[in-house]
Amino acid sequence: MRLITNLLFPQPSSCALCERKAAQGLLCRLCQQDIEMIDGQHCERCGRPHEGLCDDCVGRPETFFVMNRSAVRYNEKMKEVMSLYKFRGQETLAPLLADLLIPAFTRYYSSLAVQAITFVPIHEQRLKERGFNQAQQLAFLLSLKTKVPVINLLERNRMTEKQSKQHRSERLHRLEHAFSLRPNPPSLGNVLLVDDVYTTGSTVNECARALAKAGMKVYSLTVAR
Ligand SMILES: [Zn+2]
Ligand SMILES: [Zn+2]
Repeated sequence: MRLITNLLFPQPSSCALCERKAAQGLLCRLCQQDIEMIDGQHCERCGRPHEGLCDDCVGRPETFFVMNRSAVRYNEKMKEVMSLYKFRGQETLAPLLADLLIPAFTRYYSSLAVQAITFVPIHEQRLKERGFNQAQQLAFLLSLKTKVPVINLLERNRMTEKQSKQHRSERLHRLEHAFSLRPNPPSLGNVLLVDDVYTTGSTVNECARALAKAGMKVYSLTVAR
């Protein structure tokens, strides 16, 4: 795994986020310390640090996914990482994110018979701007490690605003039916949906709505939460 990702994404010797020397991975020790793993109690549905079901999960009118789990908290440091990766196109950060995602997969889903890994699609126009789909890249790296095949199952029906610019209620509403199943999907049972960040859960839920229509059971895994 390390070898392949090194070939795909050569690793620089200084920290990806600051001027200091990188430790073992892509970050220096200090930046690494700012990444907070999610462990301990979490909402059984969405994986947020919480005891029992959280308010978001209780209040969601319909839930189409079985559960979401996330590796780390979406704190300031992770926001910085994601913004460099997604909006500044720093693709060398992909293995760092995969290194967070893979242990979370092992921890939560290794005993689940996952038949396929799929990912949240981005709109064609955004794909052109960015040059890559971060969720697809992460799904691919996870697949290299787990040997579970990646299948591109979903398409995005319309362009949605950057989520951070919207209020929660708008966001929930605008994503409704934003995704659909690509033509002729294979018949699948347990499917793992990969994305970079879980915020309100509306993206995961809307993707799951489309997948569940075809009888799939959707489990979700994101880097940050
Ligand atoms: Zn650093
Ligand atoms: Zn929850």
